[in-house]
Amino acid sequence: MNQSEIEQLVSRYPLVQQLIQLQETCWFNPAVTDLKTALPDVGLDANDVKAASDRLSRFAPYLMQAFPDTRASQGIIESPLTPVSQLQQRLIAESGLAAIGTVYLKQDSHLPISGSIKARGGIYQVLTHAEKLALQAGLLKLSDDYSKLLSEECRALFARHRIAVGSTGNLGLSIGIMSAKLGFDVTVHMSADAREWKKRKLRAHGVTVVEYEQDYGVAVAQGRAAAESDPDCFFIDDENSKTLFLGYAVAGERLKAQFDEQGIVVDAEHPLFVYLPCGVGGGSGGVGFGLKLAFGDHVHCIFVEPTHSPAMLLGVHTGLHDEICVQDIGVDNKTAADGLAVGRPSGFVGRAMQRLIDGYYTISDEHMLRWLKALDSSEHIRVEPSAAAAAVYGPVVVSQHKDYLRSLDVDMDRLADCTHVIWATGGGMVPADEMGKYLA
Ligand SMILES: *Cc1c(COP(=O)(O)O)cnc(C)c1O
Repeated sequence: MNQSEIEQLVSRYPLVQQLIQLQETCWFNPAVTDLKTALPDVGLDANDVKAASDRLSRFAPYLMQAFPDTRASQGIIESPLTPVSQLQQRLIAESGLAAIGTVYLKQDSHLPISGSIKARGGIYQVLTHAEKLALQAGLLKLSDDYSKLLSEECRALFARHRIAVGSTGNLGLSIGIMSAKLGFDVTVHMSADAREWKKRKLRAHGVTVVEYEQDYGVAVAQGRAAAESDPDCFFIDDENSKTLFLGYAVAGERLKAQFDEQGIVVDAEHPLFVYLPCGVGGGSGGVGFGLKLAFGDHVHCIFVEPTHSPAMLLGVHTGLHDEICVQDIGVDNKTAADGLAVGRPSGFVGRAMQRLIDGYYTISDEHMLRWLKALDSSEHIRVEPSAAAAAVYGPVVVSQHKDYLRSLDVDMDRLADCTHVIWATGGGMVPADEMGKYLA
């Protein structure tokens, strides 16, 4: 975009000026509507999510054997929902209000296998591909015990196939580890933001890692180009994959089950707010979709992005979706939150979910690291900056936004009846020395 095009955009959408100036900002979308009205935008429904959930159940016996840390949960990859009362006190103090409601942490940071939200969608997509190949080859039936996939025969089949993906780190970890475990020949194209330890870990699992000096968009484009010339190579496209999206969406029914177990009620009097760190949008959008299906119109999803990478906010706010990137408006897409360092949002997710995501806010790296420390000191829970970014400050943003709460018929004196879930999306595998650097 040239200067006059940027000026035109700003005059039409004044909020873009705040993004250009890297100010922390929030926006609640007035076009948001109920699930029934917005469902056709998504083009997927509860049956699709059910099919994904069933597929994950079929794989449970395999996962239990392949990854012993999933044994405790019977091969289901799920994370704890933890009340965080100490952190809640800090957030109340920060908000200046008497109460904000009850705050929980959804610890995808501690998901088995790859320690981030990508253990949902990324792993699901690899499993879907493996199942398809094994069924086609006649080595598997839907009614089989899937631990069969550990057999030499199946591994030999997968070894003849290649998988490739572009990633800022965590998607590469999930897809790399899962694919290598099944026996695939897998290549991860890593952007410059990717942490060194993630590359080392992947190489230790036998994954080929190709490094780029540019950002995520370039890593994806290069990976896609390399895969296109190879008919036996399956390229996993994080920007547009409905399969990934559905893998993430299964989180909705899982959280609902945890709410039921813990006796947490969600209804008109007890609304639920969920804060999701957003990069390209697949994970955040997919989980958001699952939450809407599971809890209906009383769950309100808020996306969070770094001030240096407000890709989804820019795309949805201007209606340009993937036709605009943060670099177009002179924002550099450089942030310590490597999982969120995405300049151009997913066009699929932006269009599918725009009327189902209530709001967006941006947060500076400095504040992100401050909340990462607050979570460590108050609850002794360690997450990576992407995860802390998101979510931790969210309950303050919402509680202070009177107009938004009024639009939901939530009175300020009824804030105590609200439930907030901070979706901690990564960090369970960050090495101690690296975490020490974040905390310092
Ligand atoms: C990928 C990722 C996200 C965001 O997911 P998107 O699919 O990019 O929206 C958030 N946090 C962490 C730690 C991630 O790795």
